[in-house]
Amino acid sequence: MAHYIDPHIHMISRTTDDYHRMAQCGCVALSEPAFWAGFDRGSAAAFHDYFRQLTEYEPKRAAQFHIRHYCWLCINAKEAENVSLSREVIASIPEFLRCPNVLGIGEIGLNKNTPNEAIVFQEHVDLAMRTNELILIHTPHLEDKLKGTRMIIDMLQNDRRVQPHRVCIDHVEEHTVRYALEGGFWCGMTLYPTTKCTPERAVDIIEMYGTERIMVNSAGDWGKSNPLAVPEFILEMKRRGHPEATIRKIVYENPLNFFRQSNNWVDWPIETTGADAAK
Ligand SMILES: [Zn+2]
Repeated sequence: MAHYIDPHIHMISRTTDDYHRMAQCGCVALSEPAFWAGFDRGSAAAFHDYFRQLTEYEPKRAAQFHIRHYCWLCINAKEAENVSLSREVIASIPEFLRCPNVLGIGEIGLNKNTPNEAIVFQEHVDLAMRTNELILIHTPHLEDKLKGTRMIIDMLQNDRRVQPHRVCIDHVEEHTVRYALEGGFWCGMTLYPTTKCTPERAVDIIEMYGTERIMVNSAGDWGKSNPLAVPEFILEMKRRGHPEATIRKIVYENPLNFFRQSNNWVDWPIETTGADAAK
């Protein structure tokens, strides 16, 4: 069975059975960006508890199934309309940055492309630059996506400290993937049943844009979503005759190579293609 990494999934919203099924399908590691928890939180203390859940509790739940759990910290765009609350939350992030499973700041971005969201986005980028952290970016949905993606890329390019190879722009689709790749950023395609990409569309995009700096994820969250979406993508790639090495690059090597730039990264025994072939 091919091993894979799900680089964007909200395990806080999933059951332990989902961890079990993901492990059975070959998931060996995942990363969980800080996001909405199904309701708007009223205080910075609630986010503090959430960050403890992401850095202390979820890694233990994942480890029961031999899945390595990583995370990203921020106040998400959906709750960032309140700038003073956002600033309190941002101020509490540095104390968590040395937790061993933290990869960086994320998923930051825009939701409705409002001025307050843009202020909070830029303050997160500033934190990431001051602390030399990787960044994971959420782009808005549907009709807000193209404008929001352009706004985000403009803000990143206006900050001269930002190195694009240390940033991943997530939830790209046919009309935004080019902006992310041409800017030198990594990008993520989210396989989601209602909005965003289907596995078939994601494979189409791979066939058009290639396999450099691109990964796929399930975003499994509070909405109707499938925590096994990456294995669905693998099946669709196989169905179209793509070689194992190409599939492995997208679902395993690419997320690993992006994550490896993180300050806290410690390499684990990486399965080699040779070991795959020996099976
Ligand atoms: Zn997300």
